[in-house]
Amino acid sequence: MALRYDPIRDAYRSQTELNLERLKRTKVPPKRFTASEIGYCKRRIWYRRMGYIPSIFTARGSDYGRDGEAHHDITRTFMADIGGAKIEAVERDKNDMLSIETFQKDVPVKHKNMSFTLHARVDGIVKLGRTKHVLEIKSIGNKDYWAYNNVWSQTLSVDDVVSYMYEHNMNFVYQAHVGMYATKLKNAMIVLKGRDCCATGLHSQRDPEQILGHVPIPWSGTVWQQVLNRCAVVHRGLMSNTPPRAEFLQSSKECSYCPFFHLCHGAEKAKKKGQPVRHPQLGDILHAEDLE
Ligand code: SF4
Repeated sequence: MALRYDPIRDAYRSQTELNLERLKRTKVPPKRFTASEIGYCKRRIWYRRMGYIPSIFTARGSDYGRDGEAHHDITRTFMADIGGAKIEAVERDKNDMLSIETFQKDVPVKHKNMSFTLHARVDGIVKLGRTKHVLEIKSIGNKDYWAYNNVWSQTLSVDDVVSYMYEHNMNFVYQAHVGMYATKLKNAMIVLKGRDCCATGLHSQRDPEQILGHVPIPWSGTVWQQVLNRCAVVHRGLMSNTPPRAEFLQSSKECSYCPFFHLCHGAEKAKKKGQPVRHPQLGDILHAEDLE
C-alpha cells in the first residue's frame, strides 16, 4: 500500500530539492580555515577552499545538522537551568533556550613565513571554579558514544578518556584549541552527547553515580603547532594550486562521506576508464565559478 499523504516523506523530498538549490548557489568561500575542519583530510579542506563544489548533502544528512543544533541547545539549557552553570557567549531565544551563540572571530596567524586566518566559533564559555573554559558540545553517533562510555565505565579514569579522544577524535582537540586561541583561554571542556541514547556526558554502567560530564582539554603548545602545520600544508597547496596528498584510502570511512570524493579517488577511477571527471549531481560543473 502506498501512502498518499505523508508529511515526513514530503519534507525529505523538499529538503533534497532545497539542498540541490543550495548546491547550485555554491560560492567561492572566504579565505579562512574553519575550526571544525582542521582535523579533516587536508586535501578535502583544499578542495573546499579552492571553491570546488561538494557533492549534495543528502536530506538524511541534513537531519544531522538540524538535530545536532537541537542537541547543542538542549545540552546548554540543561547545564544552566538544572546544573546551575553560568554560560557566557550564548543567549536565550524566544523559547528560553540557550541557542544564540555570540562569540565568533577571525584570527590571523603567522607560521613558517606564511600568514593565514582561522575562524573560531565557540559553543559557550563556562566558569568552573575560578577558571573559564571554552565549551564545545559534540553530539556523536551510537558506536562512538558507547566506545567513549565503555572507556569511562571500565576505567573511571578521566586521563583514559582524554587519551581516547586524542587517539580517535583529534579533530575535537584541534577545534577546542582554535577556540582557546581565539578567546585567549587556556582550558576547554568537551561535552559528549549521545545522538541515539540522548545521554549527556559519560555514565558508568556499573555505578550510576559515576558521571563524567565533560572531557577536560587544557591548552597544549604541541597540539597548537599541529594545528598550524596542518593549515600550512593546505595554505602552501592553495598558493601553488596543488592539492595536498590524499590522506586516506578510498575504502576508508573518511572517504566514504567526503563530499569531494568525485574529484579525488573518483577522478582517478574515471581517468583509468578514460572518462571525464563529473560532479555527481551537476555533471560537468565542478567549480563555483562555473555557476556564475
Ligand atoms: S576522498 Fe578521501 S583522500 Fe580524497 S579528499 Fe576526500 S577524504 Fe581526502
